[in-house]
Amino acid sequence: MHEEMQPPKLNIWEAFCEFMLRFFWLFRKPSFVVMMGGPGAGKGTASKAAAPILKLAHISIGDLLRSEQEKGTTIGLHAAELMKKSEFVSDEIVLYLLRRELIKLKNWRGAIIDGFPRTEVQAQLLEQLLDSWGLPIPLVILIEVSEDDLIERLGGRLTCSNKSCGASFHVKFSPPAQEGVCDECGSDLYRREDDDPEVIPLRLEKFNTTTAPLLRFYEDNDRLIVVTSTNGGGADQVLKAILDALKSAG
Ligand code: AMP
Repeated sequence: MHEEMQPPKLNIWEAFCEFMLRFFWLFRKPSFVVMMGGPGAGKGTASKAAAPILKLAHISIGDLLRSEQEKGTTIGLHAAELMKKSEFVSDEIVLYLLRRELIKLKNWRGAIIDGFPRTEVQAQLLEQLLDSWGLPIPLVILIEVSEDDLIERLGGRLTCSNKSCGASFHVKFSPPAQEGVCDECGSDLYRREDDDPEVIPLRLEKFNTTTAPLLRFYEDNDRLIVVTSTNGGGADQVLKAILDALKSAG
């Protein structure tokens, strides 16, 4: 049943916003950057830190899906079971959520897209969407982390239960000041279901088989920037490397 779910159409207001932005973007091109990396690579942390500096929105597909769940929408209910098992939500649904977010007027400067594309089909869908807006293939940043480091990160990750905050902590590398409480907003911290040690190998395998090959597509199109991150280095180092790389890429 889940695989057959179709996304709704944009409503009149959303379609109007898209129309306005497409017109605006004829004169002032937005910037779209895709943040990629294995599960736990720090895509969310890096995107959140880089977005205000680059004056771009941060759009996380995982957060959009979790917010749909929290609101109890049909999409949220559909996604919940798949996300629990770390399975991908359908391309149509994630593309719909991404498009609906990208065309918000407040995102007129562009966005850092975190968590999409994850497959070659999604890369094509993103290219088609941007092309329909007269925009080129986005720049892609890959945060490269060894598998051992990823396992250690995911195993100790704690996430803020307040979806509009979504801050991430680690029991060893970046513990919160007060145990179980988010430093940023004071909400409870929890371990995401898909950070369960039994699910972690599945997520890594999925990344290696499905997501990693599409990096070649971006490399071939000269759109790939690789930044290395280790558990010994901090999030600040990764952020600096990303900003430096984007600067050199113009
Ligand atoms: P994340 O927060 O990026 O780790 O994503 C959490 C979960 O959301 C993933 O394990 C998938 O179930 C789902 N998800 C996120 N991004 C996508 C995507 N691009 N395509 C399909 N499912 C996705």
